This record gives sequence, structure tokens and C-alpha cells, in this order.
Amino acid sequence: MSRELSARIVAADKRWVWHPYTEMSHYRQRVDPLVVVRAQGSRLFDADGRSYLDANASWWSCLLGHGHPRLLEALRRQSEILCHTALAGIAHEPAAELAEALCAVAPRGLEHVFYSDNGSTAVEVALKLTLQFWSQNGRPERSRFVALEDGFHGETLGVTALGGVEIFRRPFEGALLDALHVPPPRDSVSTSRAFEALASALEENADTLAAVVVEPVVQGAAGMRIYDPSYLRGARELCDRFDVFLIFDEVAVGYGRTGPMWAGEHAGVEPDILCTAKGFTGGMLPMAATLTTERIFEGFLGDADRAFYYGHTFTGNPLAAAVAREVLRVYEDEQVLQRAKPKAERIARAFAEMGTLPGVSATRSLGMIGALDLEGDAGYLADTGWRVYEEARRRGAYLRPIGNVVYVAPSLNIPDDDLDALLAIVGESVEAAAVSEGSAS
Ligand SMILES: *Cc1c(COP(=O)(O)O)cnc(C)c1O
Repeated sequence: MSRELSARIVAADKRWVWHPYTEMSHYRQRVDPLVVVRAQGSRLFDADGRSYLDANASWWSCLLGHGHPRLLEALRRQSEILCHTALAGIAHEPAAELAEALCAVAPRGLEHVFYSDNGSTAVEVALKLTLQFWSQNGRPERSRFVALEDGFHGETLGVTALGGVEIFRRPFEGALLDALHVPPPRDSVSTSRAFEALASALEENADTLAAVVVEPVVQGAAGMRIYDPSYLRGARELCDRFDVFLIFDEVAVGYGRTGPMWAGEHAGVEPDILCTAKGFTGGMLPMAATLTTERIFEGFLGDADRAFYYGHTFTGNPLAAAVAREVLRVYEDEQVLQRAKPKAERIARAFAEMGTLPGVSATRSLGMIGALDLEGDAGYLADTGWRVYEEARRRGAYLRPIGNVVYVAPSLNIPDDDLDALLAIVGESVEAAAVSEGSAS
């Protein structure tokens, strides 16, 4: 029965669904997809009833695990009252309460919340806000952005220009906004050299720059690359000196992924604009927010033609807002950040130990992220990580690699025994993949 169900789902899927980030002929002919029928806590269940530890909290978003009872209850309650209404000229309780609660935990100075649907639109809003701010506040020539090489900020055409992962940009190269890419501080590029590159970019171009956009401390899609937070302090000083806005894309790292609520706290600096999504609704519904300062907000006041003419159909959706509001309550009531600390230590220890495994060239960790690099080809298309994926799947974990980078970014409240089991599976799978690689060659 379950096998039939699984076969039926895969047949329809392969005939009709075009998957994200997937070459479809390989997928149709060679891939045996995991058929997930339900999820609970830190586990996904397939049609055969097998369970898989969710190593990346479903694309870094289910920070409170799957099916948290309080989030389900908030969703149920809200669904009986109001599922959707426009937010243009209408106020409703979930959106209003959420904005207030969000600003209470946001970095200092961020006091206005603009809602959208996902991480890409949260950054897109940030770009449009800065462009329009300068255009109607006396500096229309400020229309370019500085971003980091290997950065990732999402999928819209606007934010694709900021992205530095070459294979994601290449097809659109001729149609992108003007962005200057500077080297991120890491490995071969020391923090001081990276900072000097940023300083020259600002010195030489300040008059035409709208903002500097970064993923604070961790470049996620680049392969969980962690950099020295002091770089952000330098960036803040430079942005202040040249009066250029600093935008933190906290879509992946916000909500405690790296330890503190916001990754920018590692550096003790506040951005002019902060973007949050992914864990914002505990991964339950698509919703995002872009937070700004009073100065930016005021730049849109006055005549009607100064307003921000932007908004999605589902901007401020009451269901998602009610869940996002409950997420913040759960963070407080269940002391999610404090309780994640010893879990983060377990991850750090386990990944440090995995550094001695055959085939591993480097390891790193920060908060609820642990990552290792496999020897051999690097980059998004490297397939070494996928051998580890296969081994982990056989052992009961879902572990999506990034090229040769194998990482975990589980829910922040993953039970200790699930976490230990996951970390053991990662180690065993890396070893098994190295052995099969060794015997193949
Ligand atoms: C995932 C991600 C985005 C895009 O978010 P979506 O919800 O997938 O559109 C933007 N920035 C960063 C840093 C991300 O990790």
C-alpha cells in the first residue's frame, strides 16, 4: 500500500513538477526522491514509515522543529477568525502585534516593519527602499550596491545582482543591476585585506552607492563560510563615514541560528535595514520582514508621490503573522536561545573531531551550524557531498550538501539524543563515503 502510494506520488511528480535547483533529466532518470508524507519534531517520515533526521531544518527554516504544538494552535485559532485580508489601508491584530514584538527584539534603531513573502522579497524591499530613499532625498545618483563575493541573497532579478555564486548569476548576467563585489574575509583573504578592499570600494564610489549588503558572519549558500565579525564593525564605520546604508540579510542567520538572536550581535553593530525570513514563522508559512530606521521611514513622508509603492497580495497575511507572533513568544517562554547553547557545543565538538576523518580537509562551527569540507573539487556542482547524502539517507538522516560541503543546521530545539544521533550519522557517512571513494579509484 505505502509502496503504491510512494510510486504514485513519484510518477506524478516526475511527470509534472519542475523542481528548484534541479537538473530535471538527471532527476527523472537517476534520482529516487525521498517521499515525505509527514514531519514531527526533528524528523521527516517517508511513505514507508521510515524516519529521517532533518539535518538542515528544512532549508534552515523550521527552527522550532516540525509541528510545534503552540504554532499549530496559533494557526488553528487564527484560521477560525481571519485567514486573509489586504494590508493596504487596513490594520489587523496579527500584523500590528507582530511588528511591535519584532521591534522589541530587533537591533537598536530598527522601528518600522515592512512585510513581504520570503527572504528574496525581504532583500528586494531593502534595495528598493534605499534606491527610492536616495532618489527623493537629494542624492538620485546613489543607485549602486556593494556586496560580497560568494554571497547569496535570493532569487528575484534585483537580488540576483548582489549574489556572488557564479552559477546562479551567469544566465542573467546581461540583465542585472550594477553591483560591486568585494572579497569576503576568509581563508586566503584576511579580514584586514578584505576590509581594505571594502574601504577602497567606498572611497572610490561613495557618491554613487546606495548601500552595502552582507550576510552577517556566515555566508550560507557559499558553503557555510564563517567570517570574523570585526569585519562588520569596520563596515559599519565606513558606511557611517560615507553615509551609505548598511543592510544585513539575516534571512538564514537570524533567530538564533548562530547563537544570539541576530548574527550582527557578534559584532555589536546595528544595520540600517535588516531582512528576516526563513525561521521568522518557524518555517511554517511563507512570510518575511524588512526592518528600517526612523531616518529611512521619514524619507518617505510628505507628498503622495513620496510613498513606497510596493506590496504583495499576501503582505502581512494574518495566518503567517499570527504564527510569527507565536514564534517570538515560544522563544521567550521556552528560552530557545539559552537552551541551544549546550547543543551548539555538542555540534562544535563533533565537527572538530570529524576534522581527522579521511577525506575531510576542514571543519568549522558557529552556534547551531556545523560544516566540513570534503577534499577534491569544490563549488556548487561538486558531487562529493552527494555521496555523503546517500550514506546518511541509508542511516536515517536527510542531509543536503552544498557541493563538497557537508553541514548540519538543525532546529534550535532538537532533542539532545536526536542531535547526537545526527552527528554520529554525519561522521559515519563521511567515513563510509571516503571508503567507497577509495575502493572505486
Ligand atoms: C534563503 C536566503 C534568501 C532567500 O530567501 P527565500 O525565502 O528562499 O526567498 C535570502 N538571503 C539569504 C541569506 C538566504 O539564506
